[in-house]
Amino acid sequence: MQKMVILGATGSIGASTLSVIEQNPEAYKAFALVAHKSVDKMLDLCIKHNPSIAHMVDPQAAAELQRRLPPHMAIAVSSGEDELAAIVALPEVDCVMAAIVGAAGLPATLAAVKAGKRVLLANKESLVMSGRLFIDAMQGSNAKVLPVDSEHNAIFQCLPEPAQQAIGACDLAGAGISHILLTGSGGPFLSSDLDSLSQMTPDQACKHPNWSMGRKISVDSASMMNKGLEYIEARWLFNATKDQLKVVVHPQSVIHSMVQYKDGSVLAQMGNPDMRTPIAHCMAYPQRISAGVEPLDFFKVGQLSFLKPDFNRFPCLKLAIDACEQGQEATTVLNAANEVSVEAFLASKIRFTDIARVNEYCLSHVEQRSLDTIEDILALDSLARCAAQERVAKL
Ligand code: NAD
Ligand code: MG
Repeated sequence: MQKMVILGATGSIGASTLSVIEQNPEAYKAFALVAHKSVDKMLDLCIKHNPSIAHMVDPQAAAELQRRLPPHMAIAVSSGEDELAAIVALPEVDCVMAAIVGAAGLPATLAAVKAGKRVLLANKESLVMSGRLFIDAMQGSNAKVLPVDSEHNAIFQCLPEPAQQAIGACDLAGAGISHILLTGSGGPFLSSDLDSLSQMTPDQACKHPNWSMGRKISVDSASMMNKGLEYIEARWLFNATKDQLKVVVHPQSVIHSMVQYKDGSVLAQMGNPDMRTPIAHCMAYPQRISAGVEPLDFFKVGQLSFLKPDFNRFPCLKLAIDACEQGQEATTVLNAANEVSVEAFLASKIRFTDIARVNEYCLSHVEQRSLDTIEDILALDSLARCAAQERVAKL
């Protein structure tokens, strides 16, 4: 029985993970559920999955959960950052699903990596911020990091086994790989009139044509910042150079990414756009388990199409590719600025097209210093957030 900690249990990835656990109750157990402050959702999850621990980052939410849990349930309720780092490192924990959204996920994800756990990585922002430090921590502890993000999971599945075993330090050229082809749907605004983009509402941006996801990543998909963050994520996970990484727009989201070999072969991983597939793959790797996902019906899919990304329509993608080339200071600033600008857009404080403006402003105005420790990263993250907030206030 694999005991799992689910960071971000009340979110979209959390729900998909719990659904895969329900499909395989003999092999997996939700040992600890972790969320921010949504007590109603956490209470429902506790009653359904009966974890040993329920952790709410917000102390008031934890106190309310404690009051509302049925007295006969033996669930330990906790709160606090240090307590969370201790939970992921408990000896009985086999596997940690890292699915808190944004930079907030970094400390707990890194704690799981440092504790040498099997870490299923959905929280791409933590890798975008901490890059080298994350990979070094992983190598230092022998943690097994498996990519949940559907593109990275697809790439992983298309790699030869020695490269799969060398996550963070793959020798792509040595494995005969010429390119990683990162696919992305292009989101809901792929063919909208360019002039209409500034008028798009948060609900329109969150209406993804293929995937159902949390609101932050949905907006990132509409701006293709998500693909930019994934480009940076791929750079670290697969030790890829700029020349080895390409973005391909593929509106149907049937191919979840591809690996191109020097002999002309291209391997693709396909399936219905349902996160339970990559989650189940990571949970069971190298075995396979049921995920509850409908089999792909090629006759329903009909056609697959491919386009070059348009940087004029998607300036955030270009900012991310350039930041990746510049280095970890730039990617940390971009990630922080983007979290602030997306939140401001979701709160209807700025327009959709202002997201890229705020991000670009921060990249060119925040003083970038060298990042040797997690504290350095968090300090730069705060600086960039302040700059982004000031910029948002002026728009
Ligand atoms: P979501 O908004 O649906 O859920 C976010 C979860 O994080 C919630 O459980 C929330 O309680 C928790 N959380 C938020 N702030 C927190 C804080 N300060 N401390 C602790 N917990 C906090 O998000 P999601 O769509 O499930 O995405 C989660 C992560 O997975 C993101 O990093 C996203 O980029 C990544 N991801 C998601 C998908 C997807 O299909 N949803 C696909 C690939 C990658
Ligand atoms: Mg993805």
